[in-house]
Amino acid sequence: MPSVPRGNFSNRQTQFSERRQKIIQQRKSLPITPVEKRLVEEVRKHDVLIIVGETGSGKTTQIPQFLFDAGFCRDGRVIGITQPRRVAAVTVAKRVAEECGVELGQKVGYSVRFDDATSGSTRIKYMTDGLLLREALLDPYLSKYSVIIVDEAHERTVHTDVLMGLLKNVQLARSSSVSGGQGLIFGNKNMNKLLEKENDQSGSFLKKPHHEKYAPLKLIIMSASLDARAFSEYFGGAKAVHIQGRQFPVDIFYTRDAETDYLDASLITIFQIHLEEGPGDILVFLTGQEEIESVERLINEKLPQLPQENQKLLVVSIFAALPSEQQMRVFAPAPSGFRKVILATNIAETSVTIPGIKYVIDPGFVKARSYDPGKGMESLIIIPASKSQALQRSGRAGREGPGKCFRLYPEREFEKLEDSTMPEIKRCNLSNVILQLKALGVDDILGFDFIEKPSRAAIIKSLEQLFLLGALTDECQLSDPVGHQMARLPLDPLYSKALILASQFNCLEEMLITVALLSVESIFYSPRDKLEEARTATKCFSSPEGDHITLINVYRASNDFLEKRSMEMNTAKTEKVYRKWCKENFINSRSLRHARDIHRQIQGHVEQMGLNLSSCGDDMLQFRRCLAASFFLNAAVKQPDGTYRTLASGQVVQIHPSSVLFRQKPECVIFNELVQTNNKYVRNLTRVDYLWLTELAPQYYAMHN
Ligand code: ADP
Ligand code: MG
Repeated sequence: MPSVPRGNFSNRQTQFSERRQKIIQQRKSLPITPVEKRLVEEVRKHDVLIIVGETGSGKTTQIPQFLFDAGFCRDGRVIGITQPRRVAAVTVAKRVAEECGVELGQKVGYSVRFDDATSGSTRIKYMTDGLLLREALLDPYLSKYSVIIVDEAHERTVHTDVLMGLLKNVQLARSSSVSGGQGLIFGNKNMNKLLEKENDQSGSFLKKPHHEKYAPLKLIIMSASLDARAFSEYFGGAKAVHIQGRQFPVDIFYTRDAETDYLDASLITIFQIHLEEGPGDILVFLTGQEEIESVERLINEKLPQLPQENQKLLVVSIFAALPSEQQMRVFAPAPSGFRKVILATNIAETSVTIPGIKYVIDPGFVKARSYDPGKGMESLIIIPASKSQALQRSGRAGREGPGKCFRLYPEREFEKLEDSTMPEIKRCNLSNVILQLKALGVDDILGFDFIEKPSRAAIIKSLEQLFLLGALTDECQLSDPVGHQMARLPLDPLYSKALILASQFNCLEEMLITVALLSVESIFYSPRDKLEEARTATKCFSSPEGDHITLINVYRASNDFLEKRSMEMNTAKTEKVYRKWCKENFINSRSLRHARDIHRQIQGHVEQMGLNLSSCGDDMLQFRRCLAASFFLNAAVKQPDGTYRTLASGQVVQIHPSSVLFRQKPECVIFNELVQTNNKYVRNLTRVDYLWLTELAPQYYAMHN
């Protein structure tokens, strides 16, 4: 027998060089490769360039490399590429690092909320649009960047929209600073005055004095939708270039009738393709982690019932909360003889391109934020996808050869779809971005140069909310210290406020756990067919006071469990036992792990801020009072018929069946989430005393009686 280490080593080396060859080959064949020179020329010529190109043509992975090679990172400057989605930022950075043959976090890196893989030597930096907005708080001129690429601009996330407004100002300021210029101009007000003021003081938030000369900033806006007009107009008639993609024909199939249960219909279609169609991977578009995990489980339950030769189906998934080490699994080819089925959110629509797909299943839905400024309430709803989304989705089947797309709705429904999705800024609560704009020194939010203005009502409602939370003063300025502290935390303003209050209520430890757990999808794993079993298993964690304390109980129980084990076992073994513990207790181990990560990060932030990290011990009354003081805007009282009425907006809602208070129906609750299906449900509740609200939030309840 040959010596094992040597055999392995040379084998690995061959594999490695084969993989490199393959990558070189793939890069050569991308539609964007032949136009490298032209693109670089256009970037040199124009300060703002709009690049439109079909998905998969190579925009995201190649253009930053072209610009690096063309010398745009001289003097240690950085090319920044923003993505609306963290998964895209992470997976694309990994891919590009591999293409460049470098270690992730060196020349190529990524930075997303709660996860940073960059270093001083990073020159190509992928990040979320939200993260770059935060960077602007520390460095208003974004001085380390030579080029900023706003990718996936067609998605029109609220962060992308605000970022474009910000970048327009930064670019103006940087170009004029070279000629002795005028500094940042935001909206109607001149931020320069503010910056000067800041500069006069020591401890300015500006790293460099504003009279220092900055090199001009190049801006590239990239989009997968063909309509570049809105972007071009916004940037003063900026030049747009189009990159031809390569697309094979895709046959579209519709169902005869509307489906009542699209998860079930997806499952049937997956198996139908698997059993009746030729080789090729399947991509299924679902709306979120819960749906994905439920379909994944159903497939894996059904598979063993098939004849042995039909069991070669490998399920992989991709969604935001997937641990980053698992995200790359979707890209790996299935083992020989296997068919891969990829369960994805709309991340796979345009943000990432997965090779090998021949079949697409599109139930036609998407999870979206929805905001009613009249009621001041944001909710997550599942709505029909738009026509342009349907087209992008089907296009994924025809990248490497002819494909098929199965739309799980009748053809007549397609005609009724909206042409494109409404920009998020028109359907979300704006408190978060307003807080950030205020922190950047933008005083006049109504006058800010948005690419598309949110409604006046929505802006005013959000300003009012920030005022009620104590983040803004009577003059609509950021308050000191609360407003500034809130702007520093990378969280929803309600959660930031909760943490700040918790340090006064001596329950910051409890609130940290709560906020971390509320930031992930449900940590309870409740398969539809095992609801009772799940309920029994999780009973030991339940608190009669509500879901927040129940969540804390789970978190602490898992901590205790890990602490006990890790002393006696190595990590791989602990991992296995941990997963088993989660499974037995019907806990979603992925979500819990994600929450643990978030917890660690937020703890870092609050420690830096010098908040008092104390625990209320068993005094949960104190904690519940703190919840009431924090979430008073989301309070609801029971009505005679057993439904609830929200105090702020007067909406009739029901307690979600997943809540531990579902059967108890207390008189008054605070909640964290409003979900809308056929009914309106509130989720994540805690029982509070009605009188606490007037006592702890007089600024609101005195006003509203
Ligand atoms: P665009 O941004 O124009 O949509 P990308 O630059 O994202 O295109 O992708 C270009 C090509 O790189 C695609 O063909 C895709 O299959 C491939 N690719 C991207 N990421 C990976 C990955 N992690 N593994 C394998 N191939 C990848
Ligand atoms: Mg892309």
